[in-house]
Amino acid sequence: MTERILLIEDNENNRYLVTFLLEAAGYEVVQAGDGPSGVALAARLQPALVLLDIQLPGMDGYAVARALKADAATAALPIVAVTSHAMAGDRGAALAAGCRGYLTKPIDPDTFVATVRRHLQGDFGGAEAS
Ligand code: MN
Repeated sequence: MTERILLIEDNENNRYLVTFLLEAAGYEVVQAGDGPSGVALAARLQPALVLLDIQLPGMDGYAVARALKADAATAALPIVAVTSHAMAGDRGAALAAGCRGYLTKPIDPDTFVATVRRHLQGDFGGAEAS
């Protein structure tokens, strides 16, 4: 069965790159360009993983993660935060908001899919690697 990944990301270039890499690896990718539509899609589609940009306009990634965790329909979905700000506090804030792991941008095409695969398999030990 093809695993479906929900990508919540406002940057078109990042959406393109992530989708290209994951589809080439055999995953199905559904895109959301903002937080509210991402939350709605997560409930409807029940993806195997949510890749969540933290720097979103309006409803940011932390708020999206909290909303997903607060709704019984989406509380169990694994969320991996993706952020370009490799600041020390970001990882803790993402985990506190309910994310299981953390990836940093820029996306490394050589390692990205393997890292996503580890998260899909529930191995969050490599959460800081990208
Ligand atoms: Mn962004």
